[in-house]
Amino acid sequence: MPHVITQACCGDASCVYACPVNCIHPTPDEPDFGISEMLYIDPSTCVDCGACVSACPVGAIVPGHRLPEEAARFADVNAGHYPDPAPTETRFPVRTDWRLPMAPIVKPAALGGATPDELRIAIVGSGPSAMYAADELLKHRQVRVTVYERLPEPFGLVRFGVAPDHLSTKTVTDLFNEIARHPNIQILLNTEIGRDVSLDELRSAHHAVLWAGGAPTDRPLQIPGVDREGVQSATSVVGWYNGHPDFAYAAPDLSAERAVVIGNGNVALDVARIFTADTDRLAPTTIDPTALAALRASNLREVVVVARRGPEHAAFTLPELIGLADGPARVWVDPAELSGVDATNIDDPTVAAKVNLLREISQRSKPAEPFIRLSFGLTPVEILGDGHASGVRFVKTGGDEESVIDAGLVLTAIGYRGRPVPGLPFDDEKGTVANVAGRVVENGEAIPGLYVTGWIKRGPTGFIGTNKTDSGETVANLLADAEAGALPRPGTAPVPA
Ligand code: NAP
Repeated sequence: MPHVITQACCGDASCVYACPVNCIHPTPDEPDFGISEMLYIDPSTCVDCGACVSACPVGAIVPGHRLPEEAARFADVNAGHYPDPAPTETRFPVRTDWRLPMAPIVKPAALGGATPDELRIAIVGSGPSAMYAADELLKHRQVRVTVYERLPEPFGLVRFGVAPDHLSTKTVTDLFNEIARHPNIQILLNTEIGRDVSLDELRSAHHAVLWAGGAPTDRPLQIPGVDREGVQSATSVVGWYNGHPDFAYAAPDLSAERAVVIGNGNVALDVARIFTADTDRLAPTTIDPTALAALRASNLREVVVVARRGPEHAAFTLPELIGLADGPARVWVDPAELSGVDATNIDDPTVAAKVNLLREISQRSKPAEPFIRLSFGLTPVEILGDGHASGVRFVKTGGDEESVIDAGLVLTAIGYRGRPVPGLPFDDEKGTVANVAGRVVENGEAIPGLYVTGWIKRGPTGFIGTNKTDSGETVANLLADAEAGALPRPGTAPVPA
């Protein structure tokens, strides 16, 4: 049996480039490259060589014969993309016209500065986009990278955002540690730009500043009652159970029997899974001990994850749904939620597989408490309660039928949002620093020496590995500007008053 890609797939596409027979898709020349929910292997082309296994930073690729039982469904998901295989040679000829995006080689003369062959780059933030950018930059021997990280620990959302029970996803830290061991990089922890060092100071000490600070806040839900006690963002809960120092205050009130999570992206599933997990299973994970103690004392019996649209538009990804359905979690869907949805009319195999799996879950008997219930087609209109939240009033999306779900805890999980960065132009609508392909722009003009990558560049979408391609683009532009002599020499950017 060929190799199979499983739940932890981070999408950084290292395997795509490593595969000698181009059996891993989407490839860079296919439309879904960089945006598909996961990568997948064509079983008829795979030669079982294992090159992808070595290249994958999160151990997501498994030889078919070693596929653990709870991941068995991923073999079907991979194969499901090839229901009617054509002869291999006509479908996927081995391509030679795409390769890992290579940045230009910077010629020392273009750099300027005190040491002519040194290109000094400051990266702000140490999350995935920062580390992938550093990795690209450090391929050039002239580059010296200094990473400025506000928190006492590096690696951003991999440390403080990925759910504590997603241990294989967190193994990408091994790759980041390897990058951090390069002799030409230093990481300064507990160093906040604007508090310990100003942006102007950074600019005057480096040829370029690459802002990779992510999207640190949540999108606010604007309906009456959101300011009641017992209502908080799911992102604050994620920070709390991961021991993020900014969210020590954010312990949710777990005294109620039911919680409602508004929105059904992967963050909503993460929080619902942690809230309903067997705490003995959570104990050996990276969960914060205070959060684990609070969860052990929790009264929650049911967490209802509510989407405003139908199952065919679910924001959670197929690998996460499979992990929920086939792992230790207890999840249920009322069959009535799926009436009128027919997977056979859905062209996208990933969406069809999601709907089929939801139907399979709906046919199981209702699980023991505490469990997760997935609900669809309800738009939230008000958080009810007298001081403290007591429930959410919904209207059927596209209709006028109202319903109330009683709940003493309400979490809004409607996405992250970037925060304006003092000194950089901000696109308020997108919640990103204004940029064109990673070059920070103001009034349509690039500001020399300023770059962005990751969520503050493109918005809060994609997976850990999406940042590899994203940072590759920014770094290629930064190095092209260096090559063109367009970077300010250190010491010539504005000096702070
Ligand atoms: P998300 O995937 O963007 O999902 C947001 C959800 O909120 C959607 O269901 C959306 O519904 C809903 N929503 C938005 N505005 C709403 C409103 N006014 N009222 C009600 N519902 C509303 O956001 P996320 O879950 O925060 O995830 C952010 C990114 O991180 C995603 O790319 C995600 O895949 C990634 N992530 C990945 C993992 C993983 O791979 N395990 C884990 C966590 C996060 P509509 O679709 O109808 O707009």
